[in-house]
Amino acid sequence: MLAIMTKAEENTTLNDGTLELLTRLRARGAMTRSEIGAATGWARPTVNKRIDELVSIGIVRPLTMPSPTGGRPAQGFAFDASCAVILAVDIATTVTTLALCDLSGRPVTIRTIEVGAENGPEETLGLIYTTADGMLADDTNSDGDTDDDGDTDGDDASDTPGADASGAAPHATRLCAVSIAVTTRVETSTGNIIQAPVMRHWENHNLRDLFSRRYQVPAFVENDANVRALCKAYELAGDGERMVGDLLYVHAGMGLGAGIISSGVIMHGSGGAAGDIGHIHVLGEVGADRPCRCGNIGCVEASAGGWAILQSLQDAGKPVHTLADVVGLARQGDIETVQLVRRAGRLIGDAISTCVNLLNPSYIIVGGELSDCGELLMSGIRERVWARAQPLATTSLHIESCDDEARAGIIGLAYAAIDQGLTSLEFLRQFA
Ligand SMILES: [Zn+2]
Repeated sequence: MLAIMTKAEENTTLNDGTLELLTRLRARGAMTRSEIGAATGWARPTVNKRIDELVSIGIVRPLTMPSPTGGRPAQGFAFDASCAVILAVDIATTVTTLALCDLSGRPVTIRTIEVGAENGPEETLGLIYTTADGMLADDTNSDGDTDDDGDTDGDDASDTPGADASGAAPHATRLCAVSIAVTTRVETSTGNIIQAPVMRHWENHNLRDLFSRRYQVPAFVENDANVRALCKAYELAGDGERMVGDLLYVHAGMGLGAGIISSGVIMHGSGGAAGDIGHIHVLGEVGADRPCRCGNIGCVEASAGGWAILQSLQDAGKPVHTLADVVGLARQGDIETVQLVRRAGRLIGDAISTCVNLLNPSYIIVGGELSDCGELLMSGIRERVWARAQPLATTSLHIESCDDEARAGIIGLAYAAIDQGLTSLEFLRQFA
């Protein structure tokens, strides 16, 4: 009880300075008190107070830093990415991937369950809760036995009496956020699922509130292409860069959608509908008069989306039921399938070239089941983007396919929670 009261008191003292120190330690790695003082200009008592606050809530830990000159080791302080976990839940159409990630975004445990958006909210959420509860319980149980990440913290603890007696939660057992991806758009103001052709039964379900209530931690809901864009923006950053500032992630699956990173942040638009590139109008193509799932005529998705390709092949009497079947036929060289996929590539390239002219990204990453067709799809995309986007916009443009989508989804979800959480004083206070 005493520990709880002490923490509550400490919560109120956490301020922007504490948050700034956390941000520096996350970006720079371990620092000594002197280094923190020199970098911030803070007086020693202020440095000490802010270090003590972060150590007491368990998000920073003391450690021994070897002296570069071989002299007496110094005491440093480091962000402890293993002090808590983020539950990442990536709800795709037919499967859901769950992971526990540490606070650097690294997945610690990953599970996939065979339910997804098309199973409806009751069945899917029920199995997600059961699976997540099991993962959290397993993580708690295994935590006492192993501490793979803590290379020297055992020694440090003995060197620094009181470091582990600070009231911090045990490592890796503490859930600090839930981050959920859905295969549709999310209304920015409410967190509700909107415009959801594949998640019709989920419309107006507020996953943010549901998960937040159940797990008593902040929850974040994002579009699945947005989180993959975020993952790639961080992973493709060059030396000295925090992230790629302008990147477009295109999901070419049953539908077509995009995640946009613009000036280093996910672009949601005013209501959350940004990136819905499947409904960009394409003209003059065979089949361009086919009605789209949105009710309009001439959308790129109605000719180049997975559902449209599947429908065309079924109309032609091909034995295809899933996009994996389409990819299989394309790889076998089935003429009609190859033609449809190549045409889809060119049409998607047309839509992307519009985005390139508008947004000037430095990377375009193409994922989704159709990207498994490889160059059959990618060559058409490149052809049209190079032909139709303006030279200044393509000078330093890279176009690549994504070969690790499931992993990118999970890591992007963790980054989304970290970006919104660990940079927020409100989150830090809740964490404490
Ligand atoms: Zn449409």
